[in-house]
Amino acid sequence: MEEVGTGLLDRLDAMQRVAASAPGGPLLIVAGPGTGKTRTLTHRIAYLCAELNVFPEHCLAITFTRRAAEELRHRLDGLLGPVAEDVTVGTFHALGLTILRENAAAVGLPGDFRIADDAERAAARVEAGDDSAGYTALLRKQDLVDLDELVSLPVELLRADRGLVQRYRDRWRWIFVDEYQDVDETQYELLRLLSPADGNLCAIGDPDQAIYSFRGADVGYFLRFSEDFTDARLVRLNRNYRSSAPILAAAVQAIAPSSLVSGRRLDPARLDPEAPLVGRFPAASVAEETDFVVRTVDELVGGLSHRSLDSGRIDGRSTTLSFSDIAVLYRTDAQAAPVVDALTRANIPVQKRSHDRLRDRPGVAAIARELRHADGLAGPLAARVRLAGQVVAERFAVPTLDGVGGTVRPEDVRSAVDLLTPLARRCGDDLEAFLSQLATGAEVDALDPRAEAVTLLTLHAAKGLEFPVVFLIGVEDGLLPLRWPGSTPDEEAVAEERRLFFVGLTRAQDRLYVSHAARRTRHGVERDCVPSPFLGVIDPGLFERFGETEPRRPKDRQLRLI
Ligand code: ATP
Ligand code: MG
Repeated sequence: MEEVGTGLLDRLDAMQRVAASAPGGPLLIVAGPGTGKTRTLTHRIAYLCAELNVFPEHCLAITFTRRAAEELRHRLDGLLGPVAEDVTVGTFHALGLTILRENAAAVGLPGDFRIADDAERAAARVEAGDDSAGYTALLRKQDLVDLDELVSLPVELLRADRGLVQRYRDRWRWIFVDEYQDVDETQYELLRLLSPADGNLCAIGDPDQAIYSFRGADVGYFLRFSEDFTDARLVRLNRNYRSSAPILAAAVQAIAPSSLVSGRRLDPARLDPEAPLVGRFPAASVAEETDFVVRTVDELVGGLSHRSLDSGRIDGRSTTLSFSDIAVLYRTDAQAAPVVDALTRANIPVQKRSHDRLRDRPGVAAIARELRHADGLAGPLAARVRLAGQVVAERFAVPTLDGVGGTVRPEDVRSAVDLLTPLARRCGDDLEAFLSQLATGAEVDALDPRAEAVTLLTLHAAKGLEFPVVFLIGVEDGLLPLRWPGSTPDEEAVAEERRLFFVGLTRAQDRLYVSHAARRTRHGVERDCVPSPFLGVIDPGLFERFGETEPRRPKDRQLRLI
């Protein structure tokens, strides 16, 4: 446990300290990528508890993913010690589940209601036909709720019962929300019910990283925070600790045409004059692009780990790179397959994650059902998951499952077991916690940051994460911004794609490579491709080009920093 009291905020810079120690009342922290939002958030909670005698049990911290929640919990433990356990930390879904469990009777559910799995939802949908109120009734009859209802039901419940609202307001007097730019209408409603307009609501986020409008997220709630909450205080964090100066300069230029933050600034805290430029690899084909990734990964891990024996550290960081330091990011899941194949062929281990819901992945629902119903599965959860997987794979070797949920292939079950094992390990013996994670979590929640493997992620799944080395592949018009051949996306859609590009660039700490192929097969047709227009707004002097017969190295390495 770190020393609390004086010195608690010593590890923050001046603006982070202002944010962490701001008095109560609505507080909006507008902060770009890598500016230490998580660090500031955890220190604010620790400061309030240690210095202002706020009770940890009065604090509620809401994050976007379970992984982020775990990270927050871990850092709070470090700062506050055992009392950190009294802080409520979770996703909106987890929060909704807590409220629903505590008030199940009020919505006509037993305390042990469950979240419907895929097969159960499909069956209810088939039976209800077009009747959507009918669908809900069918779920209710089986003591089931739909995932979407985890937030909407508590909102209904609270709207109907002011006494209940007051009880929750008394319980969670300090609320913190990370990634506030991505809240949707129902989540926003829930927050408004839980926090009075002059409440101690601290919202943190970056409008330029709003990337979930396709799921109903609305950056408008972030932009109008000071209208919704009385006398809101605004703190901006502009110092980026994550990325080298060339990477940051490229990212800032890339977002400029669509920035939603007036006077956007991101100042590099890292000013190593030797920092490599952004690598750019124009490939003739996807095969060539893939080959570039594999070759470079191999060189980086092999090459640098040898050199690090004498060079030690660069810029305060260890120069020993391992596979776990490297991420390959892409716009669409389909782009991953050739990279996974090529890395695997080169004996480089990989872990691939998307932002899709875990329960939508083939094999997961069947395993969950087996775990819930099987008697005699004993031992640690991870072992039970493996066993349940074997049972399911054997039972459903013949391709039928209930007639509704589709078929389960043994290879799907095997890959589901691999995916779920780290998650199961983190849940210890708590089967219920594990099952509710399966019902509400995303694939990326099952990411194992310590795994000795190259991480492959969609840009959406990469949000909030950082890696020493990042490859951003397929930076082509049509993929970034994404569009169907022949269609023209509207301006807002392009702006969101640009934000997604910005999220991708800003995941990189030390080395960033962008690549594009001149020909690519999409939707079964091979086409000529041109580089993404998003690259065109970045100063060419920030790139080092790879793969050309005459490598054209920029003479002027002077960086134009904004
Ligand atoms: P994103 O928008 O991508 O989620 P973020 O603002 O949440 O970014 P963090 O992940 O909290 O950023 O921090 C980025 C990196 O900067 C982390 O490695 C963190 O440890 C480091 N960092 C943050 N603040 C400081 C500081 N004051 N001194 C040194 N390092 C810092
Ligand atoms: Mg963050």
